[in-house]
Amino acid sequence: MTYSAQLRCIAGCPGGHRLDEIVYRCRACGGLLEVAHDLEALRARSAAAWMKLFDDRYKRTTWPFGSGVWGKREWVAPHVRDENVVSLDEGGTNLFWADRYGKSLGLDELWVKLCGNSHSGSFKDLGMTVLVSVVKQMVQDGAPIRAIACASTGDTSASLAAYCAAAGLRAVVLLPAGKITTAQLVQPIAHGATVLALDTDFDGCMALVQRLAEEPGVYLANSMNSLRLEGQKTVAVEIVQQFDWEAPDWVFIPGGNLGNVSALGAGFDMMIELGLLSKRPRICVAQAASANPLYLAYKRGWDQFEPVVAQPTEASAIRIGNPVSFAKAIRALQRHDGVVEQATEEELADAAAVADRTGMFTCPHTGVALAALVKLRAAGTVEPGQRVVVVSTANGLKFTDFKVRYHDGQLASDTHRNAPIALPAEYTKVRDAVLGSLDTSAAEPG
Ligand SMILES: *Cc1c(COP(=O)(O)O)cnc(C)c1O
Ligand SMILES: [Zn+2]
Repeated sequence: MTYSAQLRCIAGCPGGHRLDEIVYRCRACGGLLEVAHDLEALRARSAAAWMKLFDDRYKRTTWPFGSGVWGKREWVAPHVRDENVVSLDEGGTNLFWADRYGKSLGLDELWVKLCGNSHSGSFKDLGMTVLVSVVKQMVQDGAPIRAIACASTGDTSASLAAYCAAAGLRAVVLLPAGKITTAQLVQPIAHGATVLALDTDFDGCMALVQRLAEEPGVYLANSMNSLRLEGQKTVAVEIVQQFDWEAPDWVFIPGGNLGNVSALGAGFDMMIELGLLSKRPRICVAQAASANPLYLAYKRGWDQFEPVVAQPTEASAIRIGNPVSFAKAIRALQRHDGVVEQATEEELADAAAVADRTGMFTCPHTGVALAALVKLRAAGTVEPGQRVVVVSTANGLKFTDFKVRYHDGQLASDTHRNAPIALPAEYTKVRDAVLGSLDTSAAEPG
């Protein structure tokens, strides 16, 4: 059986493009494109047969199926030939049973999908493996591409640089100077990318890279590029697979440029279309209150989407005022009885700190999603018996500075601060400090 997919305008303009054509927006209306799969061909295999195939491949050694993305390649980018797959074994991440944290919110079943336990430390790897593989094949087939470029709030550039280095392709990254973490900055530097630190914010970098992509030989890797969303879509399939092909009741996901929630929705769409799911989960997008254009549009009843100027937030990867994928995100939310919630700096910092007390090591964006869950649980929107998944987008180890400052009392809140006790090396002082600490409730979450 041969499978195929095309790029099509989300507004329904006629005509399509091949996945290896260099086109980022609809040539008729300027709107976003999406990957449309030949569902008839995919339906020739039953839902049960797809589930069995995906289970047989999951995390096995047969290359490239050990990858959570390429194990589902027919649903992702069926035209990529084996020799062009650039995989760093992305996907297949732990679905963490957040038992203690969930119980502290009165939830029976809270799970955290640890997408940050990935090669470059964020979920961006799920999309980047697809984009870089497609470009490698385009170059193989004679396309005059000299470099892949992106604007980034840190994690996209880290991922792009790693996959390009593995493939032997050039990466160019435009970053907002001083607005990303040290780990995020040093990743593309270490991978040999051309790194431009610009005196602007993410939205400013995005505007520049879109112009740069008009130069011959420069291919654009931003999330406007729908190839990335095809890889990111597999997280929805993988979550359901990890529950033995049952949908959760809720998925919480932090949103900035809104590509990831669009991809999540597309993954559930595809499972519904192909009969692997009969019921959709509800989706909650969580935004930082300092960068909340989707939240504001939701509060206006989706009446009108208006960009904002994003203010500083510890959740730096979602400091985006003018998200590229808002139209896809709104569509995904409408299909999934969706809601949008926001979290202040205080709320996100405390949620991350409390989660860490139960054994997680959460990045600030995951803190935003957890804070949104706290609010929806308090409002009764999320019920005790519901099965809830929070998508954790990055590894907490990329954001150690955020945690250091929290426990040093330098953030908006220090309610759950756990400062180190500095003492001379004298036994009686050590003993008194240790025994004294056992009297407090330091081990309690919340
Ligand atoms: C990119 C990113 C996000 C936001 O994803 P979008 O697709 O831009 O909404 C959230 N968290 C982290 C850690 C990210 O790197
Ligand atoms: Zn169009």
